[in-house]
Parts: sequence; structure tokens; C-alpha cells
Amino acid sequence: MDVPFLDAREINARYADELKAAAGRVIDSGWYVLGDELVAFEREFAAYCGVRHAVGVGTGLDALALILRAYKELGALVEGDEVIVPGNTFIASFLAISENRLVPVPVEPDPATFNIDPACVEAAIGPRTRAIMAVHLYGQLADMTALGVLARQYNLLLIEDAAQAHGAASDGRKAGAFGDAAAFSFFPAKNLGALGDGGAVVTDNGLLAERVAALRNYGSSVKYHHLYQGLNSRLDEIQAAMLRVKLKHLDEDVAWRRKVSQRYREGIDHPHIRLPAVAQEQAHAWHLFVVRSPRRDALRQHLQAHGIQSQVHYPVPPHCQPAYPELRGAHLPLTEQLHDEVLSLPMGPTLTDGSVERVIDACQTFECPA
Ligand SMILES: *Cc1c(COP(=O)(O)O)cnc(C)c1O
Repeated sequence: MDVPFLDAREINARYADELKAAAGRVIDSGWYVLGDELVAFEREFAAYCGVRHAVGVGTGLDALALILRAYKELGALVEGDEVIVPGNTFIASFLAISENRLVPVPVEPDPATFNIDPACVEAAIGPRTRAIMAVHLYGQLADMTALGVLARQYNLLLIEDAAQAHGAASDGRKAGAFGDAAAFSFFPAKNLGALGDGGAVVTDNGLLAERVAALRNYGSSVKYHHLYQGLNSRLDEIQAAMLRVKLKHLDEDVAWRRKVSQRYREGIDHPHIRLPAVAQEQAHAWHLFVVRSPRRDALRQHLQAHGIQSQVHYPVPPHCQPAYPELRGAHLPLTEQLHDEVLSLPMGPTLTDGSVERVIDACQTFECPA
């Protein structure tokens, strides 16, 4: 492909010397799990997000699941409680809920921003509702003001799935600093990507952070003393060291993504390609640039013919997946329509001006089949 969707090799090649030096430091240290690199990264990432605590874990899915699990240990959630979640998210948001034997209640998004619609959230609140999981989908902050009001009014936990939103901010407040707790993913393709899997829980709640830290380590905070039936899900020293190098460059990378998105929004003007709506420029970290087209598959083929790779996030919503037969009856026509229309254009911190122009030109020459 002439214009790849995302080039992880190129992204990391920019810091190859620093990354290799950091990996060498860990190799030479002889200490590979729960060491100084992790402690330093947790401190640096908490400071970046503007919260008191960060706890490094194995994946973004584990970060989400461990937040819910820790709230169960604290008595704030019990099996069978309902968690409201956007219907059009990545399935991991749902998996974290159901693996804790909580019940995901999917609701419709605002079709302009793709983010969860607070009016639909309020309509879905019932006697078993205990939490809202807000997803900052594609990198744009959900409407945390409205969701915060609902959470206070109905006494619900507000949890952020910030796996796509590293660096999104509103009035200087970063993704991860709005809810009671937030989960991040450091999967290589995310805005802040490790060189393998990784995740983190961030929160101002010291008790919650302590529980998550114990749960990720066999339910133990003192060796061979186990308070909970935990699991093993830790961010290892090599990944923590990689992330410390890349965290220093995160703001530059997000700034470049914003520039790319601006060029796309200025350059693409087509009756059958609908551009994403942006509530506030800083509130979008542009993990993905997602357009809508009623002829999505034809547009994707047209781009492909021009050497441009695109992707679909996501082709099938969680409630229509074979994994969730119990949700098959959910009435989410808007969510289902979006999954047929969304297309993600190339986006990333190494996408060149020339490539951006090629994507724009290809979009402009798209002839919508009848
Ligand atoms: C990537 C992602 C996750 C899961 O993160 P992993 O590190 O891949 O487990 C969860 N939610 C959303 C919205 C994501 O994009």
C-alpha cells in the first residue's frame, strides 16, 4: 500500500536509539517485573493525566476489568448490577463488564460525534444501574459534563474507557481525570503505544488504586499474603521503559494528529462523505479519523484502488456478536446503521503532508455508484 493505515515501525523508528538504550538498561538490570521502570512510569503517567495514581497492568481490557473488580471488592458493585455503555464501542468495553458478572446495558450514540448520548443514558437508568462507562470513542472526549451531572444525580460510578484518548483535554483537564477512574490501553497502535501489550488504571481514589495494584498481582500487596483472589496482569519493565520514552513525545504526536485532521476537514468536501463533528479542538486526540458514507464499501474499494488503506471501526457492534446472544434483542438502530457507514482514513503521527493530500484527492474523486 502506498499510504498505509498506520505504520508502527515508522512510529517507533523515530526513537529507535532511545528505545534500544532503555531496553538495554532493563536487560542489564536483571529485574523484569514490578521494578523501578514501572514505578517511574506510573508516576509520570499519573502526572501527565493530572491524577494522583496510575497503576500499570497487562492490557487495556484488564485495566477496565480491574476497575470494576476493585469496585466489587470495595462493595460498590455486586454481581448483576447494570453498567451503561455505548452500543458502538469496541467489544473490550463490554467484555470488562460481563467478565465481572455485571450486565452491560448498551445505549445509542450521538451520530455526529459518535459518542454516548447523555439523553439516552438517562433514559436507560433503572433500579439496578450502578455505573456509566463512558468511552472516548476514536479519541474524542465524551460529554463528561452531562455524564457527571447524571452520575451525581443518580449516585452512579462514572468510569472512563480512555483506551483511544491519550492526550485529549478540555479546559486543561486530560482524558482520565474526569471520572471516578479511567482505563488506558498501550496496545502498539494506540496514541501512546508500547512495543507489546500494556494498560493502566488512573484515579484520584487511593483506596481504589491500592485494590487494583493488589488485584493485578495475585491479590497481594505483601509477598505470599493474599487478600483477594486476584490475577496476574502487570505492565512489565521493558514495556514501562518503552512507554517512558514515548510519553515524552505524546503531545507532539497528538498535535500532529490534530493537524492531519484539520487538513482532512478542510480538504474533503463530498456529498457522500460525512466528516466527523468536533465539539472542541483540544477535546479530540484523533486516534482515528472516522467518516461516514452510505456507500462505505465502495468508498473503501475506491481508496484501495488509489493505494490507500482504510479500516472499519467496527464492522459488527458488540450486541450483534455471537459472543453476546443475550443482547440480541437490544434495539439500537442508530448503532447498527453507523457500523454500516463508518470508515477510518489513514491517521498517525508519521503521516506525511503528501500522503494526506493523496487521501483528500482520492476522496474528492470518489464517484458514488447509484
Ligand atoms: C483498545 C481498546 C480497548 C482494549 O485495550 P487492549 O489493550 O487492546 O486490551 C478497550 N476499549 C477501547 C475503546 C479500545 O479501543
